Amino acid sequence: MDPAGVTPFAFNITSTDGAARTGRVTTAHGAFATPAFMPVGTAATVKAMSAADVAATGADIVLANTYHLMLRPGAERIGRLGGLHRFMNWPGPILTDSGGFQVMSLAKLRTLSDHGVIFQSHIDGATYDLTPERSVEIQHLLDADISMVLDECPSALATKKYLKDSLELTTRWAKRCKEEKEKLSGKNKRLSKSLLFAIVQGGTNSKLRAISAQQLIDIGFDGYALGGLAVGEPVKDMLKTLDAAVPHLPQDKPRYLMGVGYPEQIAEAVKRGIDMFDCVLPTRNARHGVIFANLKVSKTLKVSYNTIRIKQTKFAKDTKPLDPTCQCPTCQNYSRGYIRHLFSTQEPLALRLATIHNVHFYLELMKQIRNNI
Ligand SMILES: [Zn+2]
Repeated sequence: MDPAGVTPFAFNITSTDGAARTGRVTTAHGAFATPAFMPVGTAATVKAMSAADVAATGADIVLANTYHLMLRPGAERIGRLGGLHRFMNWPGPILTDSGGFQVMSLAKLRTLSDHGVIFQSHIDGATYDLTPERSVEIQHLLDADISMVLDECPSALATKKYLKDSLELTTRWAKRCKEEKEKLSGKNKRLSKSLLFAIVQGGTNSKLRAISAQQLIDIGFDGYALGGLAVGEPVKDMLKTLDAAVPHLPQDKPRYLMGVGYPEQIAEAVKRGIDMFDCVLPTRNARHGVIFANLKVSKTLKVSYNTIRIKQTKFAKDTKPLDPTCQCPTCQNYSRGYIRHLFSTQEPLALRLATIHNVHFYLELMKQIRNNI
């Protein structure tokens, strides 16, 4: 602790096994263990769960989406309401994305230039101007512990020429994000405690990934993410890209693979040196009644599990919990027969109980991965 009582940012690696490592990232709102999974709290809520539910699953960091929050209720309003931690009653670490990915995937009528991206809201058609500087300002208003730079995330089908131009744009934007953060930090002590991660792009091209990583390392960030993966490319190409890209990233900074993925993909990425993950799979699947069960993680980080579709008639008389091997609050207290009934009568509690279980499954996955490193 420094004299002002501020805990300085730290990433401590606690053990390693090949390229895999366990560690601890300390933020202004507490620490989290890595490899970490961040449940996705799109609109300042992990869908169907209260903050207390999220904590009960074992999560110690959540992600929130800048794009959704800048449209509704607006970053300035969240700022006036005390920032995201108070707004959503989540006292722990929060990572926000930059808004870039969802502008590309959800917004209408985008105009992309060096300046930034001008787009129309998919909700009401209102026009927004998202620049690197504004993205940092928004994430500051949200009071994010970890902010992401604004980047362009090209599609899996982009040409090499497009990927190259795009990663150069992402580098220029990253530099502007860092400059803006330094400017705002001079005026605001709280912001000086937040972290800024850069995003390595370059599609599945190994050379472009190396170029992107080096350009960003030359600017210098608190952590490095790999973006533009899990956007439709084959899994083997994604893993090949990790093999090529991760060795270019600094050992002593957290590495974050954005938007990935299935449990076995997470384990394969951890083996290649990734520390942080987020994905909507556990929450989205839960809301569709698709339940992860019977997790096993071997010493070599081989993951096995199966999924059940709880809406199926065969579960109507089943007295067992969703997953007999699970210690989550749902499995300790409710039967498959009951949860199947909640889904078939469209009771909102179905979504909550299923989500608690699936998120707990992912956090248990991370715990077992950490225990085996
Ligand atoms: Zn459970």
